[in-house]
Amino acid sequence: MLTIFENSEHKNIFFNDLTSETMVQANQHLIIHKDEVLVLDPGGHKVYPKLLSEIGKIIPISKIKYLFFSHQDPDIVAAANGWLMVTDAKAYITGLWTRFIPHFGIDDYLIDRLIPIKDEGDTLMLGDLKINFIPAHFLHSPGNFHVYDPVSKILYTGDLGASIGCKDFVVEDIDDHIKYMEAFHKRYIASNKVLRIWVDMVKNLDVDIIAPQHGSIIKGKDNIRKFLDWLYNLQCGVDLISDNMKILSI
Ligand code: FE
Repeated sequence: MLTIFENSEHKNIFFNDLTSETMVQANQHLIIHKDEVLVLDPGGHKVYPKLLSEIGKIIPISKIKYLFFSHQDPDIVAAANGWLMVTDAKAYITGLWTRFIPHFGIDDYLIDRLIPIKDEGDTLMLGDLKINFIPAHFLHSPGNFHVYDPVSKILYTGDLGASIGCKDFVVEDIDDHIKYMEAFHKRYIASNKVLRIWVDMVKNLDVDIIAPQHGSIIKGKDNIRKFLDWLYNLQCGVDLISDNMKILSI
């Protein structure tokens, strides 16, 4: 667990060690504002009891007002039913996936608390703080959102910025870190076109930390600028598929 931002009324915490070796490593993030909590990408069934217990050591579970699922993958959303059962929280996910998520086993009486986010994004009030859901479609899921917290200036980017195999909480050297991100982005991110659209949108935001759902967080303006430059020039996804369905240069 690491607190990545803290002031008298606001705290951002992330967990990077609640997954086991056989599953893809995944981070779970909390935004605590005054006495309300937003849990981002809480994870699947094995993570669920551990994360619930860890949050309970920090703040009562009843303070969880919202859950956010960046997209539909099991490492994000599989335990949605449990979270909805033990809290009164509303859970936000793109409307593209709201009718698929019940296949993970959402009880009918809980389904009304699964709230669709429209394609163009939305805002959420966490107490008196406005949190932004930023469209990030095809990065990687066709329905996908990032979260911007204007107090901590953290941009939560889901699978974008994910690194595999690096156990550091924080990226030390972004140039050296690319080797942990490259294969993942080349295969899971849809195309360079959508990366460029995203970079052009995000470069105008005041961001101090990029916090992905896998691997290390990226801190500092210089590292973030280099990260955006790398994405802007990355060939990935359909850019790397040949006419005979061969995946090129991964
Ligand atoms: Fe994913």
